Amino acid sequence: ENMSVKYGPVQALFDVNLTVNKGSVVAMLGANGAGKSTFARAVSGLVPVSAGKMTFDGQNITKSQPHTIRNAGLTHVPEGRGIFPGLSVADNLKMAVRGLEKGKREGAIEQAIAMFPVLGNRRSQRAGSMSGGEQQMLALARALAVTPKMIIADEMSLGLAPMVVDAVFERLDYARSIGVTIIIIEQFVHRALQLADQCVIMRRGEVSWTGAASDAEQAVLDSYLGESASV
Ligand code: ATP
Repeated sequence: ENMSVKYGPVQALFDVNLTVNKGSVVAMLGANGAGKSTFARAVSGLVPVSAGKMTFDGQNITKSQPHTIRNAGLTHVPEGRGIFPGLSVADNLKMAVRGLEKGKREGAIEQAIAMFPVLGNRRSQRAGSMSGGEQQMLALARALAVTPKMIIADEMSLGLAPMVVDAVFERLDYARSIGVTIIIIEQFVHRALQLADQCVIMRRGEVSWTGAASDAEQAVLDSYLGESASV
């Protein structure tokens, strides 16, 4: 509710209001610099809001630390993958499940690997030496290992080959099918809208349009054209 975020003198979000229903998929779209990543960082506790309030699953998370928000079930897959490139695949997964009770960690890791077979025979490989798509799979596996209630996925397909993007979207669709709420921030507008129920278009730090994903194509077009026309 009325979220604002400032980076020093630069205000990146202005009075953003957004409700995401449980189990829904929201595509957050907008031109470069519109404030999408800032929104994701604020909701996951990585940057503080200068005003406004955020509630997740009934809990006020406005001033919560990132680990508290993560433990509440909200996982952020940041732009640029958010893995530890110097650690092995296995250690990356171990780090992801640290917040779980000890007895549940091993099972959670095995479950994540089962969802992403490509990681199975790479447990000891240094994460940073895997291909971009494999790293993205690891990032998603890390997110899903803790069976989150909600994922905010920021530009998951950035820099990936089209076939690999397909695989990433397939896994997101799987997460949706098991009831995970998803906010997907994407450059591939069409793909994101296919997966989403709702669409939010950001423009210069504000929500400029919200509605059904099926109604969004024209609004997206207008917004992007408007943005480039004003550059
Ligand atoms: P993109 O699609 O290019 O990733 P975005 O919609 O995710 O863009 P943000 O990264 O949230 O946009 O940026 C929103 C605004 O905040 C931009 O004007 C950006 O320059 C500014 N900004 C982002 N991060 C910082 C920072 N750490 N310090 C200062 N300004 C920042």
